[in-house]
Amino acid sequence: MSIIRKTKPVQLILKQFNNKGDAISAIELIEKFKKNMDKTTVYRILDRLEDAEIIHSFIDQDGLKRYAKDNKKIHSNNDLKHHPHFLCEDCGISSCLPVTISIPSIPDYTIKRAEHLFTGICKDCV
Ligand SMILES: [Zn+2]
Ligand SMILES: [Zn+2]
Repeated sequence: MSIIRKTKPVQLILKQFNNKGDAISAIELIEKFKKNMDKTTVYRILDRLEDAEIIHSFIDQDGLKRYAKDNKKIHSNNDLKHHPHFLCEDCGISSCLPVTISIPSIPDYTIKRAEHLFTGICKDCV
């Protein structure tokens, strides 16, 4: 956990994340802010925000890293790493799911990170 300075570029990027837990890829942010900052800056800010536990990342179906805001309502037990993500096949939006998955403990293995990606149709598209 580190302190992050809320510089102008940091604020611009932070504003893109909503509280619903919708995820954004670095590519989308780079495209959106190409007039404001270069892509190194975008990656650096995302890294720092993740470090500060303001956002977290996961790998989507297309292999791209996506970022979502840490939502206190969804992540009330602070178990950020163990909630699944959902990718809608219709609108293509991926988001955090408000459930927790328990990771089994397996003798002789240390699990450091778990990725769960569910795909289907989201509540806005049914
Ligand atoms: Zn959808
Ligand atoms: Zn999430």
